[in-house]
Amino acid sequence: MTTLPETELSRALRREVARRRTFAIISHPDAGKTTLTEKLLLFGGAIQMAGEVKARKAARHATSDWMAVERERGISVTSSVMKFEHAGHEINLLDTPGHQDFSEDTYRVLTAVDSALMVIDSVKGVENQTKKLMDVCRLRDTPIMTFINKLDRDGREPFDLLDDIEKSLGIEAAPLTWPIGSGKGFQGVYDLRRNELRFFSAQGAKGVRPKDSVLVKGLDDPKLDELIGSGPASDLRRDVELLAGAGYPFDVKRYLSGEQTPVFFGSAINNFGVQELLDTFAQLAPAPKPRPTTTREVAPTEEQFSGVIFKIQANMDPAHRDRIAFMRICSGRFQRGMRVRHHRIGKEVQIANAIIFMAQDRAGVEEAWPGDIIGIHNHGTIKIGDTFTDKEPLKFTGIPNFAPEHFRRVRLANPLKSKQLEKGLLQLAEEGAVQVFRPMDNNDYILGAVGLLQFDVIVARLRDEYSADALYESAPIEAARWIDCPDRQRLDAFTKDVRANLALDAEDNLTYLAPNAWRLGRTMELWPEIEFRTTREHQ
Ligand code: GDP
Repeated sequence: MTTLPETELSRALRREVARRRTFAIISHPDAGKTTLTEKLLLFGGAIQMAGEVKARKAARHATSDWMAVERERGISVTSSVMKFEHAGHEINLLDTPGHQDFSEDTYRVLTAVDSALMVIDSVKGVENQTKKLMDVCRLRDTPIMTFINKLDRDGREPFDLLDDIEKSLGIEAAPLTWPIGSGKGFQGVYDLRRNELRFFSAQGAKGVRPKDSVLVKGLDDPKLDELIGSGPASDLRRDVELLAGAGYPFDVKRYLSGEQTPVFFGSAINNFGVQELLDTFAQLAPAPKPRPTTTREVAPTEEQFSGVIFKIQANMDPAHRDRIAFMRICSGRFQRGMRVRHHRIGKEVQIANAIIFMAQDRAGVEEAWPGDIIGIHNHGTIKIGDTFTDKEPLKFTGIPNFAPEHFRRVRLANPLKSKQLEKGLLQLAEEGAVQVFRPMDNNDYILGAVGLLQFDVIVARLRDEYSADALYESAPIEAARWIDCPDRQRLDAFTKDVRANLALDAEDNLTYLAPNAWRLGRTMELWPEIEFRTTREHQ
């Protein structure tokens, strides 16, 4: 058999794909995501000074009025993708908004990455938001690396933290470093793979990399007692022995399949543990993976260009009512000005004015590769989940809608504007800014969101873009589930029985709106053949 000579493009694709790492950081607010992001960018050479990311965050959270929302959105588009190089790797760090701007976008960003980094506060352990984000990662078995932060504080016992990760998140925790003391008594970490001691010294936010590390000949090396004292040395030996007996040994395959998370201990603000984390991340984290479509799996190294929209951000420039659609490149090479097919609407479009997110050199970039994110100007034709390719009609899957957790009933201040309201709500729902439900039994509009800030944004956009002054009323709903059932008769019986709690979403999918968790549980018990889904694929 003769093999065809490899083309220059496919060689370039293999090289570029192999060196890309596209990831997001997940954490509960205040665990240290911003600090760690900043340190990663600093060590990766993308920023010169600590404080740049922090300043953006301060601007974002200064006030909560509409102008601030606007400003925040303006700012967050530039920091939505932070690209930097490290040890020959091209790293795309995607921002997942946290705090009060937690929204469906936060979830969707996680569908566009190949792996995630989880930051946990050593004092608090696993917190609520991390659990929610982890659930999204689990949908795609996303590999996760863990950084346990704030070891300079008196935190929880390391075994306790590992146990917390395993129990709360249902993932094996395999430490790669082990802390020696904590809080005031924190001396540093022992690198379990390299048999190396790394000494901690408080550095403040100055951005200095700690260099003090000493190689020891394993844990029995008497040098260990001299270096950290015999008490801590025997504690360390005992801990490592315990780990060998009861812990999980690190297994790169289990990490890549999302079953195990390698764990690092450190202190982001003191630059401690960040370098090892970054080095190990660049080395082990997965390069862009094949992605499923409705017809076949697409490998990133295919020469045909393909990309999928995972997020739409509106009003970047209020004067132009501009929207930016964020596309993850899934295969092939993107070149400035290239023509691609927008399959849902069956049109060929030229991507002339794409924004290519590069932390340093935005204007000079002519091409992008699988794993990279580009921004396309959108005048209302692009929806979340839309696929663009050279020619083959494809539809990427795996960018779902997520069941909303907060609900409001919308009321118009001026009833004569109902047309504008309807149009506005449908467009905003299409864009993915909020979810809209029409109850089967009345003419209400119920809005659903995963983050409360989404409601403020919707009211402001309805007023500014559609001249519809809307007010919110509380809605007696606590959960939404999409309904599915292959048995038509059972579905009809169900629809009749719980009609008062049923609604259609913006794409006419049947949805059960539960007044409370108890009622949801009870209904699910009564109707075992009905499927109650927490996610739904975009059509
Ligand atoms: P985010 O909300 O997850 O982005 O968290 P930030 O990065 O803003 O950090 C929250 C707070 O924790 C800030 O006051 C940080 O200065 C502080 N912080 C971050 N890392 C550390 C650390 O390693 N040790 C201590 N003591 N504080 C830290």
